[in-house]
Amino acid sequence: MAELEAVIGLEIHVQLSTRTKMFCGCALSFGDEPNVHTCPVCLAHPGVLPVPNEEAIRYALRIAAALECDVAPRSIFHRKNYFYPDNPKAYQISQYDLPLAVEGTLGGIRIHRAHLEEDAAKTIHLGESGRIHGSGGSLVDFNRGGTPLVEIVTEPDLRSAAEAGSWARLLRTTVSQLDVSNVNMEEGSLRIDANVSVRPAGSEALGTKTELKNMNSFRFLERGIEAELARQRELVEAGGTVVQETLHFHPEDGSLTALRSKEEAHDYRYFPEPDLVPLAPTEAMLQETRESLPELPEARMRRYESELKLSAENAAQLAADPAEAAYFEAVRDKAPTVEAQTIANWVTGEMAAALRQADGGAAADSKVTPKSLAALVAMVGEKKISHGSGKQVLATLVEEGGDPAAIVERDGLAQISDGGELESIVAAAVEANPEAAEQIRSGNQKAIGAIVGAVMKQTKGRADGGEVNRLIKEKLGI
Ligand code: ADP
Ligand code: MG
Ligand code: ZN
Repeated sequence: MAELEAVIGLEIHVQLSTRTKMFCGCALSFGDEPNVHTCPVCLAHPGVLPVPNEEAIRYALRIAAALECDVAPRSIFHRKNYFYPDNPKAYQISQYDLPLAVEGTLGGIRIHRAHLEEDAAKTIHLGESGRIHGSGGSLVDFNRGGTPLVEIVTEPDLRSAAEAGSWARLLRTTVSQLDVSNVNMEEGSLRIDANVSVRPAGSEALGTKTELKNMNSFRFLERGIEAELARQRELVEAGGTVVQETLHFHPEDGSLTALRSKEEAHDYRYFPEPDLVPLAPTEAMLQETRESLPELPEARMRRYESELKLSAENAAQLAADPAEAAYFEAVRDKAPTVEAQTIANWVTGEMAAALRQADGGAAADSKVTPKSLAALVAMVGEKKISHGSGKQVLATLVEEGGDPAAIVERDGLAQISDGGELESIVAAAVEANPEAAEQIRSGNQKAIGAIVGAVMKQTKGRADGGEVNRLIKEKLGI
């Protein structure tokens, strides 16, 4: 049988962090006492009318622009009818066949559409331990009901769980740059459902998909997809067929259980919302939105690779963390003669390690100013201090702040520049390690480490590693 290829599409709900709800003036909140942010509109009292939140529309337009979508000149709100306690109107105001935005792209994955809608209330199902009147039960918190959401739907372009995970992370960092949402998966302000199918590699037709819900971290998203792909592959390879259904992921044991199959799924009886006019953003609004976008992670990554010649790995790492990228650029500004890649190595390598050592925190919040890191990197580059001493100075900077040149002076870390002094230290180290010397002579290059180590110990790391290596070889006549 032909190899089975994974096909994955994601549906992402982004809760907007507007001050008020989508169609009423109630404040948004997370973690407040239940049912304190409600009014006749979001509780669906008879005769009330929705008023669209302009801020939410502007936020949605920012997301649409960041995803390079076409914005519809007129999009329509629809009623999506369903009966459930999380929704007192018995319909959700959403968008259907005329969404706000279509045909976008992010990180090489096509965006099918992005539309505005309102969130449902939060239902809390009580287990055995929470029985009400001896019968068990559920609670409803209407604080969340009516929160503005943007739903983003990708085309089925993702080909593995890992790719889905890293793309979802790119989406999160991108949206987080727009100041429109907290994009917090644990708190539910970013919720991702995955549609998963398999098909013979090389085939164009799509297989039957299942939809996975309840993956509230990127790790769980990847694990959920992984588990479902394994299940479908095993099923199909054994001659079975995939049944279209919605599955709930249980992170505790990695299992998936069916929620409902599509046969019994609701007919939502969509129809245009009669109480709202079409959404028709002006050209001025669209232009203002595009112009106000910051440089987004994908563009930044490309710029770092092509203009600054950073490694793909460093470019991606810095672009994924805007604060770290800003710090990196600030260091670069102060050290214009140092290669960008060298600075990236210090920021993502030595600096990150030194911060971890000292209980973490971001570079920008540390005592190491971009100016002092720039000066330190330059000193190492000019061989005023060794790389090892540079790391030592950095550890001191993280603890105390200050001027790296003064620390070098105070702690006596200036690189040994007297060639004669270093030569005699190397000679002594070779004498003291005859076995290593013999191994090096007989071709074992690795044995040089022992002698380099001895020299570094003797000089307290103040010698230039390259020079020490050269002198050892010279001494041994190889
Ligand atoms: P539905 O009508 O079930 O909601 P859609 O066609 O609207 O399905 O697609 C929903 C999501 O599922 C999209 O992200 C889409 O890319 C993805 N998708 C659709 N068909 C497949 C498939 N066969 N395999 C994997 N993902 C799919
Ligand atoms: Mg759908
Ligand atoms: Zn309200």
